[in-house]
Amino acid sequence: MFIDRLFQFWIESHWSVALVMSSVVNISVYVITALTMSRLIKVMTTKKLGEYIDDRSLKDGQIKQEVSFGIIACIVFAVGSLATREVFHKIWPESISDFFVQTLCFVIFYETYSYFVHLLLHQKFFSKYHRIHHLSVRVTPWSAYSVHPLEASFIGFSAPLFMLFVPMSLGLALVLHVFGMMFTIMLHSSYRHRSNSRLIKWMNEYPRYHSKHHIYGTVNYGFVGSILG
Ligand SMILES: [Zn+2]
Ligand SMILES: [Zn+2]
Repeated sequence: MFIDRLFQFWIESHWSVALVMSSVVNISVYVITALTMSRLIKVMTTKKLGEYIDDRSLKDGQIKQEVSFGIIACIVFAVGSLATREVFHKIWPESISDFFVQTLCFVIFYETYSYFVHLLLHQKFFSKYHRIHHLSVRVTPWSAYSVHPLEASFIGFSAPLFMLFVPMSLGLALVLHVFGMMFTIMLHSSYRHRSNSRLIKWMNEYPRYHSKHHIYGTVNYGFVGSILG
């Protein structure tokens, strides 16, 4: 399969080639998702299908600054991906049950890890780094990865850290990383869709919950599982 050959090439290539390939993937996912979401939200708010959770004006140069930090964060994620070449377990899970077990273990690990890392980033020593992310008070999809490189490395090295202890396949790590990026960008959309659907109302809770974190600064530290109830 072409994708398997691409993985094999990436695993065996010089680290600089692998770094460029990973950077291209990370930057593409970030830019395409944030751009698509921004455009969609603009259309839907204009058509009154939804509204901004926080409709204050953006700061001067906010998007430009968010994109700059976002691109740097994507390159840091690519550096983290190089470490997965040393610790991965096969390219794909060997069975459906393997797929579910690896996915469940990683999601539980990442939710716990990111919650405590986020709490740590709000402590005195680290707050000067996390401050970059909180420069965005009214968030935009681009705010998702507007973080200091140190914070980006906490995110980017989470998968290789996990893979040190739990055998996880490389392809699944990439798929989960891409979904994680899309979810984080959605979390920063500051968009609420008008609908009576329970599913949409539940989905609306995610950006509302995280927008509050940016508005008040000291509430709602969690991500995926924080509002599952
Ligand atoms: Zn925070
Ligand atoms: Zn945020």
